[in-house]
Amino acid sequence: MQARRRDTTDFNLPPMPLIVQKFGGSSVANPEKILRAARRAIRAQQEGNQVVMVVSAMGDTTDDLLDLAAKITDKPPAREMDMLLSTGEQVSVALMAIAIHSLGHQAVSLTGAQIGVKTDGTFRKARIRSIETARLRKLLDEGNIVIAAGFQGIDDHFNITTLGRGGSDTTAVALAAVLRADACEIYTDVDGVYTTDPRVVPEARRVGRIGYDEMLELASLGAGVMHSRSIEFGKKFDVPIHVRSSFTDQPGTMIVAEPERPDLPVSGAAITKDEALITVQGVPDKPGTSLEIFARIAAKNISVDMIVQNVGESGKADISFTVPQNELAAALDAVRDADLIVGAEAIASDDQVAKVSVVGLGMARQTGVAQKMFRALADAGINIQMITTSEIKISVLVSRDRAAEALRIVHHAFSLDEEPHSPIRPLTPHAAAGDAAEIVSRLQSMNMEDLTIDEISLDNTQARVTISGVPDKPGIAAKVFEDVAAAGVFVDMIVQSHPAAGGHPSIGGSATLSFTVPQNQLSKSVDAARRIAQNLGCKGVSSSPIIAKLSVSGVGLRTHTGVAIRMFKALAEAGINLEMINTSEVRVNVVVEGLSGEKGLKQLQTAFADVMR
Ligand code: ASP
Ligand code: MG
Repeated sequence: MQARRRDTTDFNLPPMPLIVQKFGGSSVANPEKILRAARRAIRAQQEGNQVVMVVSAMGDTTDDLLDLAAKITDKPPAREMDMLLSTGEQVSVALMAIAIHSLGHQAVSLTGAQIGVKTDGTFRKARIRSIETARLRKLLDEGNIVIAAGFQGIDDHFNITTLGRGGSDTTAVALAAVLRADACEIYTDVDGVYTTDPRVVPEARRVGRIGYDEMLELASLGAGVMHSRSIEFGKKFDVPIHVRSSFTDQPGTMIVAEPERPDLPVSGAAITKDEALITVQGVPDKPGTSLEIFARIAAKNISVDMIVQNVGESGKADISFTVPQNELAAALDAVRDADLIVGAEAIASDDQVAKVSVVGLGMARQTGVAQKMFRALADAGINIQMITTSEIKISVLVSRDRAAEALRIVHHAFSLDEEPHSPIRPLTPHAAAGDAAEIVSRLQSMNMEDLTIDEISLDNTQARVTISGVPDKPGIAAKVFEDVAAAGVFVDMIVQSHPAAGGHPSIGGSATLSFTVPQNQLSKSVDAARRIAQNLGCKGVSSSPIIAKLSVSGVGLRTHTGVAIRMFKALAEAGINLEMINTSEVRVNVVVEGLSGEKGLKQLQTAFADVMR
């Protein structure tokens, strides 16, 4: 047996392949399905792998347990809820082990505590700190299939904790990371990741391979295939994840560092239906305003999305952002509190909006992607209320009643409904020994789910153009960026804010559109913008010849709320004013006045020093 041993710290022994197979609730919903999953694991072992299974609670068990508690009280103690919810997985691991034994093979089931999945003490959404591997290794080396309960761990005081709904994915990828598994297979009731939600767009296609960053963006946009935190683990510890159907042997979708076709600008599209828009109009354009607002919202644990700040006329700015529709009332309360200090001209909101986004690593290296999206929507007469673009994502806000249609249109515009013609780039073999050693040392020196910042950067090669008083009707953004492109200008960041319905009458009804261009193209861009403004009846064009774009990128930017806040705070403390903001899953960009770039960079480096990789 010793020869089968494969230690994380010894890279000289020829490794025996190890795979982690995770089965979701629907894949273990009844005894028959449990037996089917058991046979799959046995087969993998017979093919020469060590096998760790991670199992979720059967079918709707977790929901049923929640309902039971709710029949007793609507305020159950969080600790006891975790005690209760963790039983779902304990039932399924035991049954799985029983199934494997019944088929004549060796298996041992373990709870999170028995494995040594250590978490922090945040009941209902605990984060994994570390996982012990000794017991798992020993059982594997003895020839067992090890069956781990998903979704659970223990804190420092031996309390049972759970990782948040859908958390078994995170257990699986985390185990694959600490065991340096060769594969992490996620068995589920769909056969992979699709270009978009097939229930909304029947023409959606399964994707063969998708990048971690793309998947993170899509997951946070509500493409519900996987728990976001599991993708963060995958990215951070270089675990290839294979999402596939538990009912067939067909390959599903690989989630890895590089997408299948890096030349394609867009890999997927998503819709986030229940959004609400808040606009804070006419706030003094000075340092600390955004911080005042967003810190108060964050204090209520409301996640803010699509933040757009636009400098308007006469030293006033508009700040627009979206929040989940069901948190609108609470978010508005927070904004009203902030308003006592910032002194806005008006606060308005609209709860009939939805967000449509396209995501793709390839768009970072291509021009005209945003324009193509705007054009497709314009041709269908769909009005764009708000825009934000980041390196790998473009999001627009549209009225909810046209959102599904908008998704279908955009999906088609990027030919996501067709099998692409370009060649598939072969997958580079994963994690060489050197990387593995580095990853292992990283695993030992930190809490696994800590926020990590990979890069803080400054780009001071750009300028800003702002068109204000843009008519609020379909087709304007398409026209603007077609004309700008025709003038040979390369546009980087685009933000459009739009006063929500019921806004201040002097501002209402028109939007502000800002974009960044290379400094040496500024005069050309301003000329183009003036022509456009005149043709379309906009109010005016302003510009800033030198801006500085400061970016923070890393893993966990959104699940660790407060990254944007930390940025705003660091910049506000140095008296640096924000001109444009946009946030995504893997990066937060802010544009500040050009001369503050270096100073801003230093501030951010200090503010994030503790979490730099
Ligand atoms: N059973 C838990 C849930 O339903 C964890 C999981 O299925 O991943 O959320
Ligand atoms: Mg479940």
